[in-house]
Amino acid sequence: MRDSFNREIDYLRISVTDRCNMRCVYCMPGEGVEWKTHAEILTFEEMIALCRIFAELGIKKIKVSGGEPLVRRGLPGFVEALKTTPGVEQVTLTTNGLLLNDHLDALLDAGLDAVNISLDTLNPVTFGKITRYPYSVEYGGLEGKTAVVRNKALEQILTALDKALARALRVKINCVPIEGLNDADIVPLAALARDRPLAVRFIELMPLGRAASFTGIPAAALVSILTGGIQDAGGVLMPDTERIGNGPAVYYRVKGWQGRIGLIAALSHSFCATCNRLRLSASGMLSPCLSSSAGTDLRVLLRGGKPLAQTIAAVIGSKPASHNFLECRREKAGHSDKAMWNIGG
Ligand code: SAM
Ligand code: SF4
Repeated sequence: MRDSFNREIDYLRISVTDRCNMRCVYCMPGEGVEWKTHAEILTFEEMIALCRIFAELGIKKIKVSGGEPLVRRGLPGFVEALKTTPGVEQVTLTTNGLLLNDHLDALLDAGLDAVNISLDTLNPVTFGKITRYPYSVEYGGLEGKTAVVRNKALEQILTALDKALARALRVKINCVPIEGLNDADIVPLAALARDRPLAVRFIELMPLGRAASFTGIPAAALVSILTGGIQDAGGVLMPDTERIGNGPAVYYRVKGWQGRIGLIAALSHSFCATCNRLRLSASGMLSPCLSSSAGTDLRVLLRGGKPLAQTIAAVIGSKPASHNFLECRREKAGHSDKAMWNIGG
């Protein structure tokens, strides 16, 4: 279905849970998060019923996100149900990778098409600083902020990444560079693409909620950091004209490297003109744009037995021409339906 700016809307990002086994400093508070209640969260059956309607309206690609999607029990079965929904061509997952190893086989059996692993650093100390892992006993996070536990977590993510590649799953690494936090990790993370057929993507920090108190690194600065760092390692960063998918990333290659490097200039070069996506929160709020405060409560309509197709079409019709992150920046950090962990990033 096309929106009022003639953009084809064929991509839905679903947050399946607001819960997470990490507490990334730019995403969630360290403690005191007011989780949605069990009753507020859509069941998988409800999500699948909604996805059937979305697919009838032209959604072809679904990204499963969170919170951390892999903390929700039964996720592979949900992926399988999405994959068998008529009209759905592609189902992908965005995860912090911590539980990926445990579920990789089941996800592959379910037909998962690709995985995005969020990884902001390869340095265990910085990893602990950013993710605050292990922060508590919830979701099996181990008590005691020991370096051993933290280092093991990072190892687990890297092992899962390599296993996913070995099983021929398409893998993208997503990193959000933040001044004074993980600047030193940009080039080492990019170098994961040297010997691996994956895309390492750097995403400009969007000033939503807690992130408004951090300073992201603009795409132009990232290009010069990457150019310099790769040059020091004897390589040359070159724009890659071959397009991967229809997402917002601009890609680069380095001669002799197996993978690619991507930049997503979420803020500095608004990619809104070609935006093709809708977002559904775990509690059933449908949002036409990451930055729009508007959300339509599909849960109430669904549970009330009301027709939904017209409402969803109206949300598509209301999709704004572009984001307004400056408006979001003025919002208080903290819990909100618009917090990243609620809307899936
Ligand atoms: N827990 C999963 C994960 O981390 O991949 C899925 C949900 S998380 C909200 C999805 C993505 O949003 C992550 O890559 C995270 O780094 C990114 N993210 C969170 N807050 C962000 C912000 N303010 N700006 C840009 N990206 C952000
Ligand atoms: Fe959890 Fe992902 Fe947010 Fe980190 S970015 S706290 S892993 S939801």
